[in-house]
Amino acid sequence: MQTAGKQVVLEFKRRRKSMFQNFIFSMVLLIASVCIFGLTDQFPTLLGIEHSQWTAIGASQFVSSIFFALMGFQLNRCPKCNLTIAAHSRSSYRKSGDHGHCPHCGIRLY
Ligand SMILES: [Zn+2]
Repeated sequence: MQTAGKQVVLEFKRRRKSMFQNFIFSMVLLIASVCIFGLTDQFPTLLGIEHSQWTAIGASQFVSSIFFALMGFQLNRCPKCNLTIAAHSRSSYRKSGDHGHCPHCGIRLY
C-alpha cells in the first residue's frame, strides 16, 4: 500500500514536470509565431523566404503551440483515478480541503 502511494506521488510529479515542459514549449512556439508575423509584416522577403511562406510557418507554429498546451493540460490528471485536477479551481480545493490530495479519490499526490 505504501509503495503504491509512493508510485502515485512519483507519477504525479513526472506528469507535472511534463505539463510544465509542454507549457514552456507552447509559450516558446507562441512567441516565435508572433515574432514571425511581426517581422514578416515589416520585411516581407526576410531571409529570401516569401511572405506567404512565413505566414504558413507562423500559423503552423501557432497551431503547434495550442496542441502542446492541450497535451500539457491532459497530463494534469490523478494517476489513480485519471480525472483532471483543476489546480486553480476553488471548488476542487473546497471538496478536497487539502491541496496535496486528489479532490476526486483523495489519494496523496505530493
Ligand atoms: Zn484521484
